Amino acid sequence: MTTRVVRNIGELTTNDPAIGDESSLGRLLDAAMVVDDERVLWIGPNANAPDADEAFDAKNGAVIPGFVDSHTHLVFAGERSDEFEARMAGVHYDGGGIGRTVGATRAASRDELRQGTKKRIAELFAGGVTTVEIKSGYELTTEGEARELEIAQEFTDEVTWLGAHVVPPEFKNNREGYVELLCSTMLDSCAPLAKWADVFCDRGAFSVEEAREVLERSRAEGLLLRLHANQLAHSGAVALAVELDAASVDHCTFLEDSDIDLLSASATVATLLPGAEFSTRSEYPSARRLLDAGVTVALATDCNPGSSYVTSMAFVMALAVREMFMSIDEALFAATKGGALALRRNDVGHLGIGARADFAILDAPRAAHLVYRPGGNVVRDAYRSSKS
Ligand SMILES: [Zn+2]
Repeated sequence: MTTRVVRNIGELTTNDPAIGDESSLGRLLDAAMVVDDERVLWIGPNANAPDADEAFDAKNGAVIPGFVDSHTHLVFAGERSDEFEARMAGVHYDGGGIGRTVGATRAASRDELRQGTKKRIAELFAGGVTTVEIKSGYELTTEGEARELEIAQEFTDEVTWLGAHVVPPEFKNNREGYVELLCSTMLDSCAPLAKWADVFCDRGAFSVEEAREVLERSRAEGLLLRLHANQLAHSGAVALAVELDAASVDHCTFLEDSDIDLLSASATVATLLPGAEFSTRSEYPSARRLLDAGVTVALATDCNPGSSYVTSMAFVMALAVREMFMSIDEALFAATKGGALALRRNDVGHLGIGARADFAILDAPRAAHLVYRPGGNVVRDAYRSSKS
């Protein structure tokens, strides 16, 4: 196995409190790091860096753990820029919403879907993402959802079945029939292809009772759980997520104090997706209420063609800081370690000894430039271990 030493790191963020300044971000200035093809082997002062088979010069740039984007909908066809344009103009326009993407995705060939996914993944990776979760949810038939999951599997192990995204048009007058399909034939086909099950539990989507049925059946088939909740309205979805020990409850725009109490006493991560509020000009979730109560917060892109066509985690961090009053360090932690916790992963999202060698070298002396220079190309290079 080849070893590599990265020298002249201006500021190294490890997210390992045992390293460096002993803050939760475990930060070291004027540092070096040694990795092999898979793992972090050594971290310390630049002056003490050992030799390795290969050497990289970070040129005084900052190094961060690779971003963990724990919430995306990357497998889709078509685009909906006209809906975005109308929303920004304040004009009422029914472009078709999710149903339009369902139609375009169903009509696309497997190769078209694969190529579109590959292109969006390349954008995420270029921006420093090294672990990505991908959901299905744009075909809403047994065969189609399985096809989306198979394509997602080509790119990541973090594959999520979201058959319960919306009720498809052919079940418009028979939602009970769709829930029955979800819990029987579709689940049977999709469970072997996914790690996670997710439900869009919100106003206009699935009720708490329907979500419970789908999630409990999914869990019985061996899937781990996550939930879209409280993006559009208050509901009992957060309580359901905590009760079922879901790894993550995502959106969390509308929360009662009782929801925050439940989250702070649980292992369920609150994943915030401010790209969605930006793209729909909606009220942002209150990150401060969550953080101040001790809830673990993750940030993710929610990349999808309708409500958040965003492939930059640095941009998401900038929104979190500018619009949700997170500190830059809180946003960096949420976009790396927070995302890892939302996927129940302890091998990524940090650069402790033994962690996966997934990291980004910045064209900037401090990680703060990710937020300070929004829209700039701050990530110079991203490295993924051979096992990511
Ligand atoms: Zn989503």
